[in-house]
Amino acid sequence: MLDQQNRPRTRPSIAQLKRLKRTPASMLPWGHAAVGYLYYSFIVRVRDRRAPTGPAVLTLAVGTQLPDLIDKPLAWSLGILPSGRSLGHSLLFAVLLTIVVWVVAQRYDRQREVSALMVGHLLHVLADSTPALIAGNWEELGSLLWPLTPVYQYTGEMDQSIIGFFLELDLTALPLPGVVLSLLAIGVWIFDGRPGIDVIRDRRW
Ligand SMILES: [Zn+2]
Repeated sequence: MLDQQNRPRTRPSIAQLKRLKRTPASMLPWGHAAVGYLYYSFIVRVRDRRAPTGPAVLTLAVGTQLPDLIDKPLAWSLGILPSGRSLGHSLLFAVLLTIVVWVVAQRYDRQREVSALMVGHLLHVLADSTPALIAGNWEELGSLLWPLTPVYQYTGEMDQSIIGFFLELDLTALPLPGVVLSLLAIGVWIFDGRPGIDVIRDRRW
């Protein structure tokens, strides 16, 4: 949130007001993980009548973070990408990634794990896009077809650091739906037998 004392004293122009949108309405890492796990567990239970397997849950977890793991460091830390929502949040990149990882999956017989990875990845992109979709802010959705369409420039976004972002996070002001979603996902994960823990503990892949 902007510091009261740092706010401009003069009334900003309409153009400035448009640019003042500082950062995207973003879901935090654990929110993405929760959405991914709830969806994946539901789909697997409906389709296969069982809980998700450990290896697939681990690749799902990576997939739910992948767009930010690609874009945030390359944009905020290295300045290679134009926004923290660009390459990793582009559906064009998702198509390329799907082709590459699917070839690898066929070779090593890891289709289930790769499917989970891509489910997590796409759910992340969808969750990030939902607020702009609901509000009809189409210009904010430019990242979906980047680099064919320009990304939306959030004021001050590129001045952030990844560590600074988390240090500035006010944990007492986290949105309630995200907290509820995370607790629900933890509950379902425990009910499913905590898949993934066994893989890490036994180093069994
Ligand atoms: Zn994201």
